[in-house]
Amino acid sequence: MFSTSYLLDKPGGTFRTERIELPSLKRGEILLRTRRVSVCQSDVVIQRVGLPRIKSWPAVILHEVSATVEAVGEGVTKFETGDLVGIGCDIPCGDRACIYCGDEGTGDWTCCPNTQATGHEFAGFARTHAVLPDWFVELGPIMKFPKGFDPDHACQLEPLACCLEGMTRVNNCIANRVVVLIGAGSQSTYALQCAQAMGAGKIILVNRGAERLERVLRDFGDERVVGVRWDENVVERVFSECRPFNEPHFVMMNAPAREGYELSVKLLGYGTVLDAHAGVKGAGGKPRIAHEVDLNNDIHYKLQCLQATHGSSMHGIRMAHELLVGGKLPKLGLMTNASERFGPDQILEAIKRADDKDSLKVIVNFDNL
Ligand SMILES: [Zn+2]
Ligand SMILES: [Zn+2]
Repeated sequence: MFSTSYLLDKPGGTFRTERIELPSLKRGEILLRTRRVSVCQSDVVIQRVGLPRIKSWPAVILHEVSATVEAVGEGVTKFETGDLVGIGCDIPCGDRACIYCGDEGTGDWTCCPNTQATGHEFAGFARTHAVLPDWFVELGPIMKFPKGFDPDHACQLEPLACCLEGMTRVNNCIANRVVVLIGAGSQSTYALQCAQAMGAGKIILVNRGAERLERVLRDFGDERVVGVRWDENVVERVFSECRPFNEPHFVMMNAPAREGYELSVKLLGYGTVLDAHAGVKGAGGKPRIAHEVDLNNDIHYKLQCLQATHGSSMHGIRMAHELLVGGKLPKLGLMTNASERFGPDQILEAIKRADDKDSLKVIVNFDNL
């Protein structure tokens, strides 16, 4: 049996295919057939300028995947042939004795110094088939979906999990609260739908460009949702939309830029939780973005909370799975329109499309081989 990989030759490069013969399954391993891969904004950056975490080129990128189990090795009990699964990006380090990722670990594998992720240190899913090692199968973020579940939705398990990690690290800041989302890209569109499902009182979506903002408001808006253009009056406008409160309860910073952080801290008030959700990084590394904190007046007396999550652990993966399987995100399919669907031979076009100003979620369909 053969697998075709779609290899990105170098940062800024193009994809070429390579056919390799698959080894027979060892004990504890599973063979997956890729069904869908959705494009993350990190893939857009990796394609353009690379990433320090990717040490060797060519590389197999793309990590938001749904797949069908094609075969299971001896001793595998968690999965059987024909199962549809979705997979997280952050995975255990592979050391079964690790205090984070091992058999007795806490499961917080993004805290492990040897943390690894699919499409980064571990090969991604721009390939027709993948064999997962025994530790990945036993400990990793692989969730089974019911028969007939849409693989388009299952591949979005991971980005949804990342979003939910950020929204739930601090309790009681979404239900009946005022939620501000900075940026109107895919993480904010997931957050909007999750906030609706979690019973938010009001959701204020802030974006610079009109295209995405209009698309998201049109397709996902309800009576609780308002859009605010990010111009020189943005802080005042957000505060006025928070009424009868003076400031938001939860601010999720989803715009991966210094300006996003500068805006987010201006929105902090009484009891505001800031989720510093979008990391800022590029070929030059991670810039320092400084902000002075008054631990007494702001943190203690105003009950502000500055927090973040990056990536996802089993907590977010399980919660995303529950929302998906429970049908709590009924509009998810609207994040991908006809212009955002590609075949595996069009991965470069798919990544370029994901970089467009109006794009939400690009899906590569591996059933269209
Ligand atoms: Zn992602
Ligand atoms: Zn570890």
